[in-house]
Amino acid sequence: MNAFNAATVESSVNLARWHEIEYIMSNSLKNNYFNMVYQPLVSLNTGSLIGFEALVRCDSTQYGVVGPDEFIPHVEQTGMILELGEWIFERTLSDMQHMLYMGLDSITVSLNISPVQILHGNVFNSVMTLLDKYAIPASAIKIELTETALIHSPATIAKVLEDFHREGVSIWLDDFGTGYASLGLLRQLHIDGLKVDRSFVSNITENNEDFTLCSAIIAMAQRLGLETVAEGIEHENQLHILEQLGCDIAQGYLLGKPQNLIRSINTWMK
Ligand code: C2E
Ligand code: MG
Ligand code: MG
Repeated sequence: MNAFNAATVESSVNLARWHEIEYIMSNSLKNNYFNMVYQPLVSLNTGSLIGFEALVRCDSTQYGVVGPDEFIPHVEQTGMILELGEWIFERTLSDMQHMLYMGLDSITVSLNISPVQILHGNVFNSVMTLLDKYAIPASAIKIELTETALIHSPATIAKVLEDFHREGVSIWLDDFGTGYASLGLLRQLHIDGLKVDRSFVSNITENNEDFTLCSAIIAMAQRLGLETVAEGIEHENQLHILEQLGCDIAQGYLLGKPQNLIRSINTWMK
């Protein structure tokens, strides 16, 4: 097959998959295909659980599991993220109330927010109303926004982040190091912490450049008074290096895979 044919086949496969995702998404909310899972975040100072990142899943009976990396860009493009985002907030905060009730107190829950929700929805009001409804303090919530999200309408994003900051909600920059945000934005916006992207962490033991990047991000964060989470830790030796570099919080399969509400409570309630 020549390069032109290969590209044509690939684009028709992509198009067919796009229509499949569109079909799955169109029935997903009413058929209850979505679910939330929670991945632990562990303090590298104390070794104890500090909270969870809430991650959405889609499991359709007909098509099986579709990952958020595939469907989030789709729902962002169609606008369905606004409705799905509301569902995610409601389910997560209701689950968090359950965690607190079961005794998993002094934990935080991190919510991933799409820039589309900030620019075209009313995330601030939605989250604040739900915190009130479920009697959860604002300081128990962290908002995760990808670094790339900041380059879309930074003024609008800054205003919403300021509203959250005023109420005591922390703001974290996700996948840090992979986007194009200017470092100046770190000072202008009310950012509380950086999540070092998994792509740097996964080769930290073998690749000198990745090690240098991780140590530079952590050192910069410390000087700016920001906390750091390292994402995607799978091996003990990665954990030890990040600990030595002064990283504050660890996340990855080594510490725990994302699990549903009941399993998270059973695993982490001591
Ligand atoms: P993210 O926010 O950076 O989430 C971390 C991703 O890394 C998750 O993938 C998690 O399962 C995965 N991960 C964590 N530790 C490890 C590890 O040790 N090894 C490996 N291989 N992977 C690890 P997931 O759940 O597939 O989510 C992918 C992305 O989809 C998220 O990246 C986030 O950008 C988006 N996403 C997920 N849930 C939501 C949501 O509720 N709302 C929005 N707007 N986006 C979401
Ligand atoms: Mg995240
Ligand atoms: Mg991330």
